[in-house]
Amino acid sequence: MAASGRGLCRAVGASPRPAWRRAHWEARGHLKPEYDAVVIGAGHNGLVAAAYLQRLGVNTAVFERRHVIGGAAVTEEIIPGFKFSRASYLLSLLRPQIYTDLELKKHGLRLHLRNPYSFTPLLEEGTGSKVPRSLLLGTDMVENQKQISQFSPQDAQAFPRYEAFMNRLALAIDPLLDTAPVDMEAFQRGSLLQRLKSLSTLKPLLQAGASHPPLGSSSVQAWPSSVINGGSTKGQP
Ligand SMILES: Cc1cc2nc3c(=O)[nH]c(=O)nc-3n(C[C@H](O)[C@H](O)[C@H](O)COP(=O)(O)OP(=O)(O)OC[C@H]3O[C@@H](n4cnc5c(N)ncnc54)[C@H](O)[C@@H]3O)c2cc1C
Repeated sequence: MAASGRGLCRAVGASPRPAWRRAHWEARGHLKPEYDAVVIGAGHNGLVAAAYLQRLGVNTAVFERRHVIGGAAVTEEIIPGFKFSRASYLLSLLRPQIYTDLELKKHGLRLHLRNPYSFTPLLEEGTGSKVPRSLLLGTDMVENQKQISQFSPQDAQAFPRYEAFMNRLALAIDPLLDTAPVDMEAFQRGSLLQRLKSLSTLKPLLQAGASHPPLGSSSVQAWPSSVINGGSTKGQP
């Protein structure tokens, strides 16, 4: 289709500037000539790092190439009227200390428990009134066992023990996320005292192991429901 010169100008003028270009243009007005620290990329790691730096009085700028900040944790309206999570939407690994330090709730963070947390439809033909099978898992253990027993009664029976095992693993590993890694240099070459000190990193793991009964004697009720749901951190809010 041909367009007259004036028509074309109007069309170009009306066409929206790409969102990232508009965002960058608007941000230019806020830029200072100098910063103490610059973070490239406004994913959640960059944002958290920048927030901590700024709180310490380090004058910090975050540069993001996209028009939205949040990286993989962003929810975007990709199709008008429909919002999509780009990838990362579970907060199980977000450290509680960060919630508190950055006052995330005060800034509008709301958590939603995912229940059911997993739906797996099977690629099979339904016959007559029989619909294709699927597996739906949530926080109700009895319901989960019913679901699993469609495929394997044995697995359904073992599921509470599996959950308890996974919860126990999570409880043991969780404190390590806030601990500095083992100082391998000190561990390999240090004095006996330095070696022992370097192993203190593993204290939470040892404590978790010591404070919980062996797997065989545990029942699922003994563990917080859904530290890891169905072995998947995707069960977390
Ligand atoms: C499919 C999938 C599902 C996941 N699900 C979860 C989950 O449910 N829960 C969870 O905790 N983790 C999840 N993760 C992991 C999580 O997404 C990553 O650990 C997290 O996004 C890393 O954060 P980040 O800030 O380091 O990087 P990103 O989130 O990748 O952010 C990087 C940012 O930097 C920008 N950038 C890159 N290069 C430049 C540049 N040169 N200049 C300017 N800006 C730049 C990018 O545009 C982006 O905004 C998932 C990952 C994937 C792939």
